[in-house]
Amino acid sequence: MRVGFIGLGTMGKPMVINLLNKGYSVKVYNRTADKTAEVVALGAVAVSSAVEVAQETDVIMTMLKDDAAVLEVILGTTGIIHGLSAGQTVIDCSTISPDTSRQIHEALLERAVDFLDAPVTGSKPAAENGTLAFMAGGRFAALDKQRSLFEAIGTKVIYMGPSGSGSSAKLAHNTIAAVNLLGFIEGLTIATKAGLDPERFIEAVLAGGASSKQAESKGSKIINRDFSSQFSLQLMLKDLLLAGELSNSYQLPLPLQKAATNLFQIGLSKGFGDQDMSAIVQCYEEWMQTLVVKQASGYERRKNTRLHIDIPLILSVHQWEQEGSFTGQTIEGKLYDLSESGMQIVSSFPLSMDMFVVIHFPKEADLPPITARVIRIDNDNGSFRYGCMLSGLAPYVRLKIEDYIAIYPYISGDYESTTQ
Ligand code: NAP
Repeated sequence: MRVGFIGLGTMGKPMVINLLNKGYSVKVYNRTADKTAEVVALGAVAVSSAVEVAQETDVIMTMLKDDAAVLEVILGTTGIIHGLSAGQTVIDCSTISPDTSRQIHEALLERAVDFLDAPVTGSKPAAENGTLAFMAGGRFAALDKQRSLFEAIGTKVIYMGPSGSGSSAKLAHNTIAAVNLLGFIEGLTIATKAGLDPERFIEAVLAGGASSKQAESKGSKIINRDFSSQFSLQLMLKDLLLAGELSNSYQLPLPLQKAATNLFQIGLSKGFGDQDMSAIVQCYEEWMQTLVVKQASGYERRKNTRLHIDIPLILSVHQWEQEGSFTGQTIEGKLYDLSESGMQIVSSFPLSMDMFVVIHFPKEADLPPITARVIRIDNDNGSFRYGCMLSGLAPYVRLKIEDYIAIYPYISGDYESTTQ
């Protein structure tokens, strides 16, 4: 069977690789042409327009971003409709609205071409290891004819009913997935704020009644701060908006669906759209002013994530004048680093070795003044970097400093620059 495939994004590319591995001959098209290079190297043939994919293929699969992309690629002026002939089958695996699926079904029916809406469940890992599940709408006979193709890239294909049924099922499915994810994150937020180790809490969740596929697949991404996209936040928002349109058409009040949509809209407005949907946890982190991270020492955490610290400090500098008398003044500095045994402070004010400074954190840090002794001085582009030894620092104060450093980027609005 000669297969055409359009859309080599997160999902499409591994699906094509699986088809090639199973011996299918695959002709591919992607709007951004250079994304075809990897599959071409594995034996796919790339063409330069969607309509060419329709020529000399038996089945054409599409895996595209949204309704607009699917309409353009299938029915648009350079769409495959202009190259299709009777007897071919088009299978759209994108998540789109049932109305759009039915519109395409009608248009292709006029050319005696079968159309199946067959969105998938299972994210990037399932696309990679060929364990996707398809929810298909359209003619049952058309689905039955393509069973071996579905089985080459997935483990399940479930017939949902006439055209549009696959898309309706997928929107209902993703409403559950979004609510599950947010429920999991809200529990994680409570556990983190209560001072629990999020990793151990996730272990408890996975062992009990609150377990879910979302907890399973997103828990470790969240605590390792790996927000690389498996399923992007903006795509989940797209699905929730489509699910909202569908439920509105039935005049259904779905309070959780609406709350989930709002939350993902907030995530998008904060710039997390291209990150994995689990990046929504960053909204909760901002509200509770604590990061949900694997419990490592703050020092390791910063080393691993290469966070720079740039917290403004006020320093009281005390100078020994003569026996029994000190002079003091107040200068400005910035906290540059915190290590296990000390602090580095940057200031343009010259200090000398062994001087004592009293460090005052900004008021919102709610930290007591901390005394430090200058034990190292480096010139740092016209200002000075002081290595300061902290003695007698109570462990809970140290932890509070770590916490403050972790939330400071959120307080200062400097989050972007610290997460490059
Ligand atoms: P993606 O990585 O963003 O890929 C989107 C694909 O659509 C790319 O090939 C992109 O081409 C193409 N595209 C976008 N607009 C286009 C246009 N106007 N004309 C032609 N091509 C266009 O998305 P994905 O994660 O693979 O998801 C694809 C679909 O599957 C979405 O509907 C999504 O909701 C659904 N889905 C995703 C997952 C998941 O976990 N990722 C799971 C289930 C279902 P360019 O390369 O040129 O941008």
